[in-house]
Amino acid sequence: MNKNSSNIMALAPNTSNKRKTVCIFGTGDFGRALGYKLIQSGYPVVFGSRSTQTSSLIPKDAEVLSHAEAAQKAAIIIIAIQRQHYDFLIPLAEILRGKVLVDISNNLKINQYPESNAEYLAQLVPGAKVVKAFNTVSAWALQSGTLDASRQVFVCGDDMEAKQMVMDIVRALGLTPLDQGSLLAAQEIENYPLQLFPMWKFPILLSLGLITFFFFYCLIRDVIYPYVYENKDYSFFIAISITNRICPILALILLALVYLPGVLAAIIQLYRGTKYRRFPDWLDKWMLCRKQLGLVALAFASLHVLYTLVIPIRSFVRWRISSQTVSQALNNKTEPLNTTNAWLSDSYLALGILGFFLFVLLGITSLPSVSNNVNWREFRFVQSKLGYLTLVLCTAHTMVYGGKRFLSPSSYRWYLPNAYMLSLIIPCTVLVIKFVLIFPCLDKPLTRIRQGWERKPQYSE
Ligand code: NAP
Repeated sequence: MNKNSSNIMALAPNTSNKRKTVCIFGTGDFGRALGYKLIQSGYPVVFGSRSTQTSSLIPKDAEVLSHAEAAQKAAIIIIAIQRQHYDFLIPLAEILRGKVLVDISNNLKINQYPESNAEYLAQLVPGAKVVKAFNTVSAWALQSGTLDASRQVFVCGDDMEAKQMVMDIVRALGLTPLDQGSLLAAQEIENYPLQLFPMWKFPILLSLGLITFFFFYCLIRDVIYPYVYENKDYSFFIAISITNRICPILALILLALVYLPGVLAAIIQLYRGTKYRRFPDWLDKWMLCRKQLGLVALAFASLHVLYTLVIPIRSFVRWRISSQTVSQALNNKTEPLNTTNAWLSDSYLALGILGFFLFVLLGITSLPSVSNNVNWREFRFVQSKLGYLTLVLCTAHTMVYGGKRFLSPSSYRWYLPNAYMLSLIIPCTVLVIKFVLIFPCLDKPLTRIRQGWERKPQYSE
């Protein structure tokens, strides 16, 4: 018995007589995987191949014919063959006239050819109606049924009817077609699977830059300075102390950078008096990766929490506590509890806990499965109002951590302030601008601009 086809059960066996035959050119990985899925969904499938010999890998309910014979049996032909072999279609042009050709091909590089593969196919077979689809779905996902992450199928084509026929097949396979317009969109669709985390590039590069800067900054202040002036070796600070300084700094700066483009956009709109002019490209791109910036910030905040949890078991901390206790015993003098310090320490911890809690809430609501279940107003409330509250709490957490040391000259080393002071610059700037923007004299015109109102240009005679 054919092992591969024995477990294929038609999902809609009774509908097979209603479904029209689909032809697939190419019995390679993708052709076979799509063939299985189509048969499961009740479509009769015929393969067009260079070899008409069937094999155990090909779904047993499918026919395997020559390209010309197979093409005559169906109105839709899926070309599951690499672009470089498309030449074989030229002699078939007459048979393919009026047929719907589905181009599923991908390239190895972004913009590898001057025209998209689908447009190239349309040039080779001018009488056919070419539709681009399925290229973002993998053969493995089709066959294993693990399509949760890639349920969307981008479809484009110049012929509406042909596109509709392909979208009907996509839906029948349990996938979601997304109409991307004419065949001009094919190049972009072909580039999608080749992009390497496009929205993550900026947040990750920025984080790497900030990590490098703050690492050397803290190294100079916390390791090199004591070594030079006190001959103390604090190089072990690199493992936990410095890392646990960098993580909250990055979390706070990146969180502020999630909200900075929003306030900049508001200033630009107020200045221009309209929302109908495009923002500069850099601002557009920045706004598009705010979610990723926020998630990277959350990752750093979570690391900060983990690093903080191990503080009591650090050998350096245990040594410091015991030496303080011994010194009090030797001097026969107990240091009284400093209530102000106790208040500062508890408040800073409480602000940190609350800030982190809201931070996690923001992260959870940004997940598609959650954000799809809240309406626009609820999403905006969480991401904007709770987001700003998180920024306020985390900024306050850092300020209270600084406490009395904030402006003390002893906290400067080689004129360098503590790293956490630098981390407050962007968050404080964002919060101050946001605070100014909520004044009615600015908020009202901004709300009207966002509702479509435009300030009339002033002409001077
Ligand atoms: P494959 O396993 O190499 O299969 C390609 C098939 O093309 C071969 O089995 C062969 O079928 C046919 N072929 C090869 N040389 C030919 C020639 N000179 N003339 C005519 N036909 C020829 O490749 P694949 O992974 O199935 O990919 C097929 C297409 O799907 C590619 O364009 C790829 O970019 C696209 N795609 C693949 C995936 C995936 O996950 N694999 C995902 C999305 C898109 P016969 O022996 O039956 O003639």
